[in-house]
Order: sequence, then structure tokens, then C-alpha cells
Amino acid sequence: MSARIDPTRSAQPTWWASLAVRSAALPLPAEHRNRYRQEFMAELYGMAPPDQLRHAAGVLSRVATLRLALVDPGRHLTKEAAMAKRWRCRFRLHRWQAKRGPTGQPYRECRYCGAMTWPPDMPGAVGGGL
Ligand SMILES: [Zn+2]
Repeated sequence: MSARIDPTRSAQPTWWASLAVRSAALPLPAEHRNRYRQEFMAELYGMAPPDQLRHAAGVLSRVATLRLALVDPGRHLTKEAAMAKRWRCRFRLHRWQAKRGPTGQPYRECRYCGAMTWPPDMPGAVGGGL
């Protein structure tokens, strides 16, 4: 999923998206709560309201899984590499940025984990990335 940045709109999160993602952090263990609340909030900045809605829904729908991973990290030791990624990349909510390859072909790369994808209308594109 790609977050659109709409320069005609405020970069501030909407009150409802802010409330939703701050509330989503409540079930998390106390020692992790503030960190995740700040991370959830930070990712709202610059998103258009429809993207904020999708982001908030994604956070709310996955907070139980995140809580489980935080409460019982030993249960997820086999996924250690995945746990090293940011939470949003683990849930395939990458923060895409447009780039160009050495021959000028456009592609998108996640700012956090380096995952890549190609625009579907690009000649020779074979589907998207993660
Ligand atoms: Zn990523």
C-alpha cells in the first residue's frame, strides 16, 4: 500500500485518525505503549484523510498481534528477522518513495526496509513487490 501525500491538504493528522491510533496503543504493554503511540502518530503526518483512515484501520486490526509479539517475544523467535523490521513493514504497510534505476526506469522503494515495487503500468513490469 502506498500513502499518498496531498500537498493541498494539511499535513496534520485528523482528530479521528489521531484518536484511533492513540487508542490502539492502549492494549500494548506499558513499557512499549508510548513508543508505539508515537510511531503510529508520526506515520499519520503527511497522509491524506483517506490514507489516514486506511492506516488507522490497519493499526487497529493488527494491534492484538503486536501485543502478542510484545508480551511473548519467545513465541516469535523463529521470525526474528521479521521482528527487526518496523511494525508497518511487517504488516506490508511500507512507506514508498519514488526512485529511478540506473537506466531511468521508475520504481518505488520502502524508506524503512528497502522493499521494492514497480508501477503496474510500467513496460516489462512483472507485478508489484511486497
Ligand atoms: Zn518497508
